[in-house]
Amino acid sequence: MFMEPTRREFLGTLAAFSLFPTEKEKPELILHNGNIVTVNAKEPRAQAIAISGGRILAVGNDADILNLASPGAKKMDLGGKTVLPGFIDAHSHPAAAGLMHLRMVDCDLRSIAAIQAALRERAAKTPAGEWVLGFKYDDTKTSDGRPLNINDLDAAVPDHPVQIEHRGGHTIYCNSLAFQKAGINDKTPDPAGGKIDHDPATGKLNGRAAESARSIFDKAIPQTFTRDDHREGVKLISKMLAKTGITSAHEAQGTPLDLLAYQDARESGDLLFRAYCFINYRYIDSMIAAGVRTGLGDEWVRIGAMKLVCDGSISERTARLSTPYEGRPNDYGILVMTEDELYTYGRKAHLAGWQIGTHANGDVGIDTTLRVYERLQRENPRHDPRFRLEHCTVINDDLVARIKKLGAIPTPFSTYVYYHGEKMRYYGAERLNHMFALRTFLDNDIRATQASDYPPGEFIPMMALQSEVTRTDTKGNVWGPLQKITVEEAIRVGTLNGAYASYEENLKGSLEAGKLADLVVLGRDPLKENPSTLVTIPVERTMAGGRWTFEA
Ligand SMILES: [Zn+2]
Repeated sequence: MFMEPTRREFLGTLAAFSLFPTEKEKPELILHNGNIVTVNAKEPRAQAIAISGGRILAVGNDADILNLASPGAKKMDLGGKTVLPGFIDAHSHPAAAGLMHLRMVDCDLRSIAAIQAALRERAAKTPAGEWVLGFKYDDTKTSDGRPLNINDLDAAVPDHPVQIEHRGGHTIYCNSLAFQKAGINDKTPDPAGGKIDHDPATGKLNGRAAESARSIFDKAIPQTFTRDDHREGVKLISKMLAKTGITSAHEAQGTPLDLLAYQDARESGDLLFRAYCFINYRYIDSMIAAGVRTGLGDEWVRIGAMKLVCDGSISERTARLSTPYEGRPNDYGILVMTEDELYTYGRKAHLAGWQIGTHANGDVGIDTTLRVYERLQRENPRHDPRFRLEHCTVINDDLVARIKKLGAIPTPFSTYVYYHGEKMRYYGAERLNHMFALRTFLDNDIRATQASDYPPGEFIPMMALQSEVTRTDTKGNVWGPLQKITVEEAIRVGTLNGAYASYEENLKGSLEAGKLADLVVLGRDPLKENPSTLVTIPVERTMAGGRWTFEA
Protein backbone atom coordinates (compact mmCIF):
# COMPACT_ATOMS: atom_id res chain seq x y z
CA MET A 1 0.00 0.00 0.00
CA PHE A 2 1.17 3.50 -0.80
CA MET A 3 2.49 5.26 2.26
CA GLU A 4 1.95 8.94 2.83
CA PRO A 5 5.08 11.02 3.39
CA THR A 6 4.05 12.10 6.89
CA ARG A 7 3.68 8.50 7.92
CA ARG A 8 7.10 7.67 6.47
CA GLU A 9 8.65 10.61 8.27
CA PHE A 10 7.19 9.39 11.49
CA LEU A 11 8.62 5.90 11.05
CA GLY A 12 11.96 7.44 10.17
CA THR A 13 12.03 9.22 13.50
CA LEU A 14 11.36 6.00 15.36
CA ALA A 15 14.19 4.30 13.49
CA ALA A 16 16.59 7.08 14.44
CA PHE A 17 15.83 6.50 18.09
CA SER A 18 16.43 2.80 17.88
CA LEU A 19 19.95 3.39 16.51
CA PHE A 20 21.08 4.38 20.01
CA PRO A 21 19.40 1.94 22.35
CA THR A 22 22.47 1.37 24.55
CA GLU A 23 23.06 5.13 24.82
CA LYS A 24 19.52 5.55 26.13
CA GLU A 25 19.70 2.71 28.58
CA LYS A 26 22.79 3.70 30.53
CA PRO A 27 21.82 5.07 33.94
CA GLU A 28 22.97 8.62 34.63
CA LEU A 29 22.30 8.25 38.33
CA ILE A 30 21.90 5.31 40.68
CA LEU A 31 20.41 5.72 44.13
CA HIS A 32 21.36 2.70 46.24
CA ASN A 33 21.33 1.36 49.80
CA GLY A 34 17.82 2.72 50.28
CA ASN A 35 14.58 1.57 51.81
CA ILE A 36 12.47 2.14 48.72
CA VAL A 37 8.70 1.97 49.08
CA THR A 38 7.69 1.63 45.43
CA VAL A 39 3.85 1.61 45.61
CA ASN A 40 4.16 -1.03 42.89
CA ALA A 41 2.20 -4.09 44.02
CA LYS A 42 4.44 -6.40 41.98
CA GLU A 43 7.60 -5.29 43.77
CA PRO A 44 6.64 -3.31 46.89
CA ARG A 45 10.15 -2.84 48.30
CA ALA A 46 13.52 -2.22 46.68
CA GLN A 47 17.03 -1.03 47.56
CA ALA A 48 18.15 0.79 44.46
CA ILE A 49 16.87 2.74 41.52
CA ALA A 50 18.55 3.64 38.22
CA ILE A 51 17.61 6.89 36.49
CA SER A 52 18.19 8.15 32.96
CA GLY A 53 16.69 10.99 30.93
CA GLY A 54 14.39 11.96 33.76
CA ARG A 55 12.85 8.49 33.90
CA ILE A 56 13.30 5.37 35.97
CA LEU A 57 15.34 2.80 34.13
CA ALA A 58 15.24 0.02 36.69
CA VAL A 59 14.29 -0.67 40.30
CA GLY A 60 15.63 -3.59 42.31
CA ASN A 61 18.24 -4.78 44.78
CA ASP A 62 21.63 -3.10 45.17
CA ALA A 63 23.62 -5.76 43.38
CA ASP A 64 21.45 -5.88 40.26
CA ILE A 65 21.07 -2.14 39.89
CA LEU A 66 24.69 -1.22 40.65
CA ASN A 67 25.62 -3.78 38.06
CA LEU A 68 23.98 -1.57 35.40
CA ALA A 69 26.40 1.28 36.14
CA SER A 70 28.79 2.37 33.43
CA PRO A 71 31.91 4.39 34.35
CA GLY A 72 30.13 7.73 33.87
CA ALA A 73 27.15 7.01 36.13
CA LYS A 74 26.77 8.96 39.35
CA LYS A 75 26.04 6.88 42.43
CA MET A 76 24.41 8.09 45.57
CA ASP A 77 24.38 6.08 48.78
CA LEU A 78 21.05 6.69 50.52
CA GLY A 79 22.38 5.36 53.82
CA GLY A 80 19.28 3.25 54.36
CA LYS A 81 16.94 6.24 54.06
CA THR A 82 13.34 5.77 52.96
CA VAL A 83 12.31 6.74 49.43
CA LEU A 84 8.70 7.18 48.33
CA PRO A 85 7.24 8.25 44.98
CA GLY A 86 6.86 12.02 44.81
CA PHE A 87 3.57 13.18 46.33
CA ILE A 88 0.69 14.29 44.13
CA ASP A 89 -1.55 16.98 45.53
CA ALA A 90 -4.74 16.36 43.57
CA HIS A 91 -6.50 19.58 44.52
CA SER A 92 -4.60 22.75 45.24
CA HIS A 93 -4.38 26.36 44.08
CA PRO A 94 -0.65 26.85 43.60
CA ALA A 95 -0.71 29.65 41.00
CA ALA A 96 -3.06 31.85 43.01
CA ALA A 97 -1.30 30.99 46.28
CA GLY A 98 2.06 31.95 44.80
CA LEU A 99 0.72 35.37 43.79
CA MET A 100 -0.81 35.82 47.23
CA HIS A 101 2.45 35.05 48.96
CA LEU A 102 4.12 37.51 46.63
CA ARG A 103 1.79 40.45 47.27
CA MET A 104 -0.73 40.00 50.07
CA VAL A 105 -0.62 40.25 53.85
CA ASP A 106 -0.43 36.76 55.36
CA CYS A 107 -3.21 36.94 57.99
CA ASP A 108 -2.56 33.47 59.44
CA LEU A 109 -2.15 35.19 62.82
CA ARG A 110 -3.54 34.41 66.27
CA SER A 111 -5.31 37.65 67.29
CA ILE A 112 -7.30 40.44 65.67
CA ALA A 113 -4.77 42.92 67.08
CA ALA A 114 -1.93 41.08 65.32
CA ILE A 115 -3.88 41.18 62.05
CA GLN A 116 -4.55 44.90 62.52
CA ALA A 117 -0.85 45.54 63.12
CA ALA A 118 0.12 43.61 59.97
CA LEU A 119 -2.44 45.53 57.90
CA ARG A 120 -1.30 48.87 59.35
CA GLU A 121 2.28 48.05 58.45
CA ARG A 122 1.35 47.19 54.86
CA ALA A 123 -0.87 50.29 54.55
CA ALA A 124 2.03 52.50 55.58
CA LYS A 125 3.97 51.23 52.55
CA THR A 126 1.00 51.44 50.17
CA PRO A 127 0.10 54.66 48.28
CA ALA A 128 -3.08 56.27 49.69
CA GLY A 129 -6.28 54.99 48.12
CA GLU A 130 -4.74 51.74 46.87
CA TRP A 131 -6.07 48.40 48.08
CA VAL A 132 -4.52 46.53 50.98
CA LEU A 133 -5.26 42.84 50.53
CA GLY A 134 -4.88 39.99 52.97
CA PHE A 135 -5.28 36.21 52.90
CA LYS A 136 -5.30 33.13 55.13
CA TYR A 137 -7.40 34.84 57.83
CA ASP A 138 -9.15 32.22 59.96
CA ASP A 139 -11.86 33.26 62.42
CA THR A 140 -11.44 30.04 64.42
CA LYS A 141 -7.73 30.51 64.98
CA THR A 142 -7.70 33.94 66.66
CA SER A 143 -7.81 34.18 70.46
CA ASP A 144 -10.58 36.84 70.43
CA GLY A 145 -13.46 34.35 70.16
CA ARG A 146 -15.25 36.50 67.55
CA PRO A 147 -14.76 37.17 63.86
CA LEU A 148 -13.05 40.20 62.41
CA ASN A 149 -15.51 43.02 61.64
CA ILE A 150 -15.75 46.24 59.70
CA ASN A 151 -14.89 48.35 62.77
CA ASP A 152 -11.65 46.42 63.39
CA LEU A 153 -10.63 47.02 59.80
CA ASP A 154 -11.67 50.72 59.76
CA ALA A 155 -9.71 51.28 62.96
CA ALA A 156 -6.59 49.62 61.54
CA VAL A 157 -6.71 51.10 58.04
CA PRO A 158 -9.09 54.02 57.46
CA ASP A 159 -7.75 55.45 54.18
CA HIS A 160 -7.09 52.38 52.03
CA PRO A 161 -9.76 49.94 50.91
CA VAL A 162 -9.06 46.66 52.70
CA GLN A 163 -10.15 43.17 51.72
CA ILE A 164 -9.12 40.12 53.74
CA GLU A 165 -9.82 36.70 52.35
CA HIS A 166 -10.76 33.88 54.69
CA ARG A 167 -8.47 30.88 54.66
CA GLY A 168 -11.27 28.91 53.03
CA GLY A 169 -11.43 31.38 50.13
CA HIS A 170 -15.23 31.65 50.08
CA THR A 171 -15.74 34.60 52.43
CA ILE A 172 -14.13 38.03 52.67
CA TYR A 173 -13.89 40.75 55.31
CA CYS A 174 -13.77 44.37 54.18
CA ASN A 175 -13.53 47.86 55.62
CA SER A 176 -15.96 50.71 54.88
CA LEU A 177 -13.87 52.16 52.08
CA ALA A 178 -13.81 48.76 50.33
CA PHE A 179 -17.61 48.50 50.42
CA GLN A 180 -17.82 52.06 49.11
CA LYS A 181 -15.45 51.27 46.23
CA ALA A 182 -17.49 48.16 45.41
CA GLY A 183 -20.71 50.24 45.40
CA ILE A 184 -22.28 48.28 48.24
CA ASN A 185 -24.26 49.98 51.02
CA ASP A 186 -26.45 48.81 53.93
CA LYS A 187 -29.41 48.30 51.58
CA THR A 188 -27.71 46.44 48.72
CA PRO A 189 -29.52 43.11 48.22
CA ASP A 190 -27.64 39.79 48.27
CA PRO A 191 -26.53 38.73 44.78
CA ALA A 192 -27.66 35.30 43.49
CA GLY A 193 -25.51 32.62 45.12
CA GLY A 194 -23.97 35.07 47.56
CA LYS A 195 -24.45 36.85 50.85
CA ILE A 196 -23.62 40.28 52.26
CA ASP A 197 -23.77 40.15 56.05
CA HIS A 198 -25.35 42.76 58.30
CA ASP A 199 -25.28 43.45 62.02
CA PRO A 200 -28.61 41.95 63.19
CA ALA A 201 -29.13 44.79 65.70
CA THR A 202 -28.40 47.80 63.48
CA GLY A 203 -28.87 46.40 59.96
CA LYS A 204 -25.53 47.93 58.96
CA LEU A 205 -22.83 46.08 57.00
CA ASN A 206 -20.69 44.05 59.38
CA GLY A 207 -17.78 43.60 56.99
CA ARG A 208 -18.32 40.02 55.86
CA ALA A 209 -19.44 38.91 52.40
CA ALA A 210 -19.69 35.37 51.06
CA GLU A 211 -19.49 33.34 47.85
CA SER A 212 -20.62 35.19 44.70
CA ALA A 213 -20.70 38.56 46.53
CA ARG A 214 -16.93 38.44 46.17
CA SER A 215 -17.13 39.09 42.46
CA ILE A 216 -18.59 42.56 43.12
CA PHE A 217 -15.33 43.40 44.86
CA ASP A 218 -13.22 41.65 42.22
CA LYS A 219 -14.51 44.20 39.71
CA ALA A 220 -13.42 47.06 41.95
CA ILE A 221 -9.92 45.74 42.69
CA PRO A 222 -7.49 46.59 39.91
CA GLN A 223 -5.72 43.49 38.61
CA THR A 224 -2.22 44.85 38.58
CA PHE A 225 -0.26 41.63 38.21
CA THR A 226 2.10 41.48 35.25
CA ARG A 227 2.93 38.34 33.33
CA ASP A 228 6.26 38.28 35.20
CA ASP A 229 4.43 38.45 38.54
CA HIS A 230 2.46 35.34 37.62
CA ARG A 231 5.66 33.51 36.75
CA GLU A 232 7.30 34.72 39.97
CA GLY A 233 4.31 33.42 41.91
CA VAL A 234 4.71 29.96 40.41
CA LYS A 235 8.44 30.10 41.16
CA LEU A 236 7.78 30.97 44.81
CA ILE A 237 5.15 28.29 45.38
CA SER A 238 7.29 25.74 43.49
CA LYS A 239 9.97 26.01 46.14
CA MET A 240 7.42 25.75 48.94
CA LEU A 241 5.91 22.56 47.50
CA ALA A 242 9.23 20.92 46.62
CA LYS A 243 10.41 21.35 50.21
CA THR A 244 7.61 19.09 51.41
CA GLY A 245 8.02 16.30 48.84
CA ILE A 246 5.35 17.33 46.33
CA THR A 247 6.25 16.66 42.69
CA SER A 248 2.82 17.13 41.07
CA ALA A 249 -0.16 19.33 41.81
CA HIS A 250 -3.58 19.60 40.24
CA GLU A 251 -4.33 23.29 39.81
CA ALA A 252 -8.00 23.14 40.75
CA GLN A 253 -9.25 26.51 39.56
CA GLY A 254 -7.03 27.39 36.63
CA THR A 255 -7.46 30.30 34.25
CA PRO A 256 -5.70 30.96 30.94
CA LEU A 257 -3.33 33.26 32.91
CA ASP A 258 -2.40 30.41 35.24
CA LEU A 259 -1.80 28.12 32.30
CA LEU A 260 0.49 30.75 30.80
CA ALA A 261 2.28 31.23 34.13
CA TYR A 262 3.04 27.51 34.38
CA GLN A 263 4.44 27.52 30.86
CA ASP A 264 6.53 30.64 31.54
CA ALA A 265 7.88 29.20 34.79
CA ARG A 266 8.73 25.99 33.07
CA GLU A 267 10.61 27.84 30.33
CA SER A 268 12.62 29.81 32.88
CA GLY A 269 13.45 26.61 34.79
CA ASP A 270 11.42 27.65 37.81
CA LEU A 271 8.60 25.12 37.64
CA LEU A 272 9.53 22.42 40.14
CA PHE A 273 6.29 20.43 40.13
CA ARG A 274 4.11 19.01 37.37
CA ALA A 275 0.92 21.00 36.90
CA TYR A 276 -2.36 19.42 35.83
CA CYS A 277 -4.18 22.65 35.15
CA PHE A 278 -7.96 22.66 35.52
CA ILE A 279 -9.78 25.31 33.53
CA ASN A 280 -12.61 27.25 35.12
CA TYR A 281 -15.95 26.77 33.33
CA ARG A 282 -16.04 30.47 32.41
CA TYR A 283 -13.28 29.82 29.82
CA ILE A 284 -14.60 26.53 28.50
CA ASP A 285 -16.20 27.90 25.33
CA SER A 286 -13.00 29.49 24.04
CA MET A 287 -10.99 26.43 25.03
CA ILE A 288 -13.31 24.08 23.16
CA ALA A 289 -13.36 26.45 20.17
CA ALA A 290 -9.56 26.26 20.07
CA GLY A 291 -9.69 22.48 19.99
CA VAL A 292 -8.26 22.13 23.48
CA ARG A 293 -9.31 19.40 25.88
CA THR A 294 -8.17 17.50 28.95
CA GLY A 295 -4.82 15.79 28.47
CA LEU A 296 -3.29 18.30 26.03
CA GLY A 297 0.25 19.22 27.04
CA ASP A 298 3.04 17.09 28.38
CA GLU A 299 4.19 15.66 31.67
CA TRP A 300 5.06 19.11 33.09
CA VAL A 301 2.11 21.26 32.08
CA ARG A 302 -1.09 19.55 31.07
CA ILE A 303 -4.71 20.65 30.63
CA GLY A 304 -6.80 19.18 33.43
CA ALA A 305 -10.53 18.99 34.01
CA MET A 306 -13.12 21.71 33.57
CA LYS A 307 -13.93 23.10 37.01
CA LEU A 308 -17.48 23.63 38.24
CA VAL A 309 -18.56 24.70 41.72
CA CYS A 310 -21.70 23.27 43.30
CA ASP A 311 -21.71 24.39 46.94
CA GLY A 312 -19.85 26.20 49.73
CA SER A 313 -16.85 25.36 51.90
CA ILE A 314 -16.12 23.14 54.88
CA SER A 315 -13.72 25.43 56.73
CA GLU A 316 -16.14 28.36 56.50
CA ARG A 317 -19.20 26.20 57.20
CA THR A 318 -21.03 27.07 53.96
CA ALA A 319 -21.09 23.54 52.45
CA ARG A 320 -24.68 22.53 51.58
CA LEU A 321 -25.94 19.87 54.00
CA SER A 322 -29.17 17.86 54.24
CA THR A 323 -29.31 18.47 58.01
CA PRO A 324 -28.30 21.78 59.62
CA TYR A 325 -24.98 22.71 61.20
CA GLU A 326 -24.64 21.88 64.92
CA GLY A 327 -26.16 24.68 67.00
CA ARG A 328 -27.44 26.57 63.92
CA PRO A 329 -30.86 24.96 63.30
CA ASN A 330 -31.70 27.00 60.17
CA ASP A 331 -28.30 26.90 58.52
CA TYR A 332 -27.93 24.28 55.76
CA GLY A 333 -25.15 26.06 53.83
CA ILE A 334 -25.16 27.43 50.28
CA LEU A 335 -25.61 26.10 46.73
CA VAL A 336 -23.45 28.18 44.38
CA MET A 337 -24.58 26.98 40.92
CA THR A 338 -27.94 25.49 40.03
CA GLU A 339 -28.28 21.94 38.76
CA ASP A 340 -29.29 23.37 35.38
CA GLU A 341 -26.12 25.44 35.13
CA LEU A 342 -23.96 22.51 36.17
CA TYR A 343 -25.63 20.38 33.51
CA THR A 344 -25.37 23.00 30.76
CA TYR A 345 -21.63 23.54 31.25
CA GLY A 346 -21.05 19.89 32.07
CA ARG A 347 -22.70 18.75 28.85
CA LYS A 348 -20.53 21.03 26.70
CA ALA A 349 -17.36 19.78 28.36
CA HIS A 350 -18.47 16.14 28.39
CA LEU A 351 -19.28 16.16 24.67
CA ALA A 352 -15.95 17.82 23.88
CA GLY A 353 -14.01 15.10 25.70
CA TRP A 354 -13.17 17.01 28.85
CA GLN A 355 -12.86 15.54 32.32
CA ILE A 356 -15.11 17.42 34.75
CA GLY A 357 -14.21 18.30 38.34
CA THR A 358 -17.01 19.75 40.44
CA HIS A 359 -16.52 21.31 43.85
CA ALA A 360 -19.03 19.44 46.04
CA ASN A 361 -18.62 19.36 49.80
CA GLY A 362 -21.97 18.76 51.49
CA ASP A 363 -24.13 15.67 50.94
CA VAL A 364 -26.66 17.81 49.04
CA GLY A 365 -23.89 19.26 46.87
CA ILE A 366 -22.52 15.78 46.13
CA ASP A 367 -25.99 14.39 45.36
CA THR A 368 -26.67 17.25 42.93
CA THR A 369 -23.32 16.82 41.20
CA LEU A 370 -23.74 13.04 40.89
CA ARG A 371 -27.18 13.56 39.36
CA VAL A 372 -25.59 15.76 36.70
CA TYR A 373 -22.79 13.25 36.01
CA GLU A 374 -25.25 10.35 35.86
CA ARG A 375 -27.38 12.23 33.37
CA LEU A 376 -24.37 13.09 31.20
CA GLN A 377 -23.29 9.44 31.09
CA ARG A 378 -26.85 8.26 30.46
CA GLU A 379 -27.41 10.67 27.57
CA ASN A 380 -23.92 10.46 26.08
CA PRO A 381 -22.00 7.51 27.47
CA ARG A 382 -18.25 8.06 27.33
CA HIS A 383 -15.53 5.52 27.97
CA ASP A 384 -13.59 6.30 31.16
CA PRO A 385 -14.72 9.90 31.84
CA ARG A 386 -13.16 9.84 35.37
CA PHE A 387 -15.63 12.39 36.74
CA ARG A 388 -14.16 14.09 39.78
CA LEU A 389 -15.88 15.17 42.96
CA GLU A 390 -13.68 17.93 44.33
CA HIS A 391 -13.58 17.51 48.13
CA CYS A 392 -16.59 15.16 48.35
CA THR A 393 -16.62 15.69 52.07
CA VAL A 394 -19.93 14.60 53.66
CA ILE A 395 -21.06 11.24 52.29
CA ASN A 396 -23.65 8.53 52.93
CA ASP A 397 -24.17 4.95 51.67
CA ASP A 398 -26.31 5.99 48.71
CA LEU A 399 -23.73 8.52 47.51
CA VAL A 400 -20.90 6.01 47.89
CA ALA A 401 -22.76 3.40 45.82
CA ARG A 402 -23.34 5.94 43.06
CA ILE A 403 -19.71 7.17 43.13
CA LYS A 404 -18.56 3.56 42.81
CA LYS A 405 -20.95 2.82 39.96
CA LEU A 406 -19.83 5.92 38.04
CA GLY A 407 -16.14 5.27 38.73
CA ALA A 408 -15.93 8.85 39.99
CA ILE A 409 -12.92 10.18 41.89
CA PRO A 410 -13.29 11.99 45.23
CA THR A 411 -10.50 14.35 46.33
CA PRO A 412 -11.16 14.72 50.09
CA PHE A 413 -9.23 17.21 52.23
CA SER A 414 -6.19 15.41 53.57
CA THR A 415 -5.04 17.68 56.37
CA TYR A 416 -8.31 19.11 57.71
CA VAL A 417 -8.81 16.80 60.68
CA TYR A 418 -5.32 17.53 61.95
CA TYR A 419 -5.07 21.20 61.00
CA HIS A 420 -8.67 22.46 61.18
CA GLY A 421 -9.77 20.37 64.18
CA GLU A 422 -11.40 23.37 65.88
CA LYS A 423 -13.95 23.57 63.03
CA MET A 424 -14.97 19.92 63.31
CA ARG A 425 -17.41 20.46 66.17
CA TYR A 426 -19.72 22.40 63.81
CA TYR A 427 -20.29 19.14 61.98
CA GLY A 428 -20.78 16.96 65.06
CA ALA A 429 -19.22 13.64 66.06
CA GLU A 430 -21.70 11.48 64.15
CA ARG A 431 -21.32 13.37 60.86
CA LEU A 432 -17.50 13.29 61.19
CA ASN A 433 -17.58 9.53 60.74
CA HIS A 434 -18.88 10.23 57.22
CA MET A 435 -16.50 13.07 56.34
CA PHE A 436 -13.13 12.91 54.53
CA ALA A 437 -14.21 9.29 54.27
CA LEU A 438 -11.07 7.57 53.02
CA ARG A 439 -11.80 4.29 54.82
CA THR A 440 -15.18 4.06 53.12
CA PHE A 441 -13.79 5.05 49.72
CA LEU A 442 -10.93 2.54 49.82
CA ASP A 443 -13.19 -0.25 51.10
CA ASN A 444 -15.40 0.38 48.05
CA ASP A 445 -12.47 0.41 45.59
CA ILE A 446 -12.98 4.12 44.98
CA ARG A 447 -9.68 5.77 44.10
CA ALA A 448 -9.69 8.81 46.38
CA THR A 449 -6.65 11.10 46.33
CA GLN A 450 -4.57 13.27 48.62
CA ALA A 451 -5.65 16.90 48.31
CA SER A 452 -4.71 19.98 50.30
CA ASP A 453 -6.83 22.72 48.72
CA TYR A 454 -4.02 25.12 49.67
CA PRO A 455 -4.41 27.94 50.74
CA PRO A 456 -7.50 26.71 52.65
CA GLY A 457 -5.66 23.58 53.81
CA GLU A 458 -2.02 22.87 54.57
CA PHE A 459 -0.24 20.99 51.78
CA ILE A 460 2.46 19.13 53.74
CA PRO A 461 2.17 15.45 52.69
CA MET A 462 3.49 14.15 56.02
CA MET A 463 0.71 16.10 57.75
CA ALA A 464 -1.78 14.50 55.36
CA LEU A 465 -0.53 11.04 56.35
CA GLN A 466 -0.83 11.81 60.05
CA SER A 467 -4.29 13.34 59.65
CA GLU A 468 -5.61 10.42 57.60
CA VAL A 469 -4.07 7.71 59.77
CA THR A 470 -4.88 9.16 63.22
CA ARG A 471 -7.98 11.33 62.56
CA THR A 472 -6.62 13.41 65.44
CA ASP A 473 -6.22 17.19 65.60
CA THR A 474 -3.35 19.19 67.12
CA LYS A 475 -5.08 19.24 70.52
CA GLY A 476 -5.55 15.47 70.64
CA ASN A 477 -9.27 15.38 69.73
CA VAL A 478 -10.22 12.42 67.56
CA TRP A 479 -12.70 13.19 64.75
CA GLY A 480 -14.42 10.40 62.81
CA PRO A 481 -12.25 7.46 63.95
CA LEU A 482 -14.16 5.04 61.67
CA GLN A 483 -12.41 6.63 58.69
CA LYS A 484 -8.82 5.90 59.77
CA ILE A 485 -6.64 4.30 57.11
CA THR A 486 -3.17 2.73 57.36
CA VAL A 487 0.10 4.52 56.55
CA GLU A 488 0.61 2.23 53.57
CA GLU A 489 -2.84 3.13 52.24
CA ALA A 490 -2.28 6.84 52.85
CA ILE A 491 0.94 6.70 50.83
CA ARG A 492 -0.88 5.11 47.89
CA VAL A 493 -3.67 7.69 48.16
CA GLY A 494 -1.01 10.44 48.01
CA THR A 495 0.85 9.00 45.03
CA LEU A 496 -0.67 6.44 42.63
CA ASN A 497 -4.27 7.51 43.21
CA GLY A 498 -3.33 11.10 42.40
CA ALA A 499 -1.78 9.94 39.14
CA TYR A 500 -4.96 8.05 38.25
CA ALA A 501 -7.03 11.18 38.85
CA SER A 502 -5.18 12.90 35.97
CA TYR A 503 -5.07 9.83 33.66
CA GLU A 504 -1.33 9.54 34.36
CA GLU A 505 -1.13 6.28 36.30
CA ASN A 506 1.13 4.80 33.61
CA LEU A 507 3.48 7.77 33.88
CA LYS A 508 3.91 8.38 37.60
CA GLY A 509 2.63 7.62 41.10
CA SER A 510 4.86 4.60 41.72
CA LEU A 511 8.54 3.82 41.37
CA GLU A 512 8.91 1.37 38.50
CA ALA A 513 10.83 1.11 35.25
CA GLY A 514 9.59 3.50 32.56
CA LYS A 515 7.90 5.95 34.92
CA LEU A 516 9.07 9.48 35.63
CA ALA A 517 11.87 9.85 38.18
CA ASP A 518 9.74 11.72 40.74
CA LEU A 519 10.57 10.79 44.32
CA VAL A 520 11.17 11.98 47.84
CA VAL A 521 13.86 10.94 50.33
CA LEU A 522 12.70 11.03 53.95
CA GLY A 523 14.68 11.30 57.17
CA ARG A 524 12.66 8.48 58.79
CA ASP A 525 10.45 5.61 57.63
CA PRO A 526 6.73 6.51 57.90
CA LEU A 527 5.85 2.81 58.09
CA LYS A 528 7.91 2.45 61.28
CA GLU A 529 6.99 5.84 62.77
CA ASN A 530 4.57 6.39 65.64
CA PRO A 531 1.52 7.71 63.69
CA SER A 532 1.23 10.71 66.03
CA THR A 533 4.64 12.03 64.92
CA LEU A 534 4.40 11.42 61.16
CA VAL A 535 4.22 15.19 60.58
CA THR A 536 7.71 15.60 62.09
CA ILE A 537 9.42 13.30 59.56
CA PRO A 538 11.90 15.51 57.71
CA VAL A 539 11.99 15.66 53.92
CA GLU A 540 15.64 15.45 52.93
CA ARG A 541 15.40 15.61 49.17
CA THR A 542 12.80 15.82 46.45
CA MET A 543 13.34 14.84 42.82
CA ALA A 544 11.17 15.59 39.80
CA GLY A 545 12.16 14.27 36.40
CA GLY A 546 15.57 13.13 37.63
CA ARG A 547 16.49 16.58 38.94
CA TRP A 548 16.69 17.46 42.64
CA THR A 549 14.08 20.14 43.23
CA PHE A 550 14.85 20.32 46.93
CA GLU A 551 17.87 19.36 49.01
CA ALA A 552 17.92 19.99 52.75
ZN1 LIG B 1 -10.20 24.34 45.90
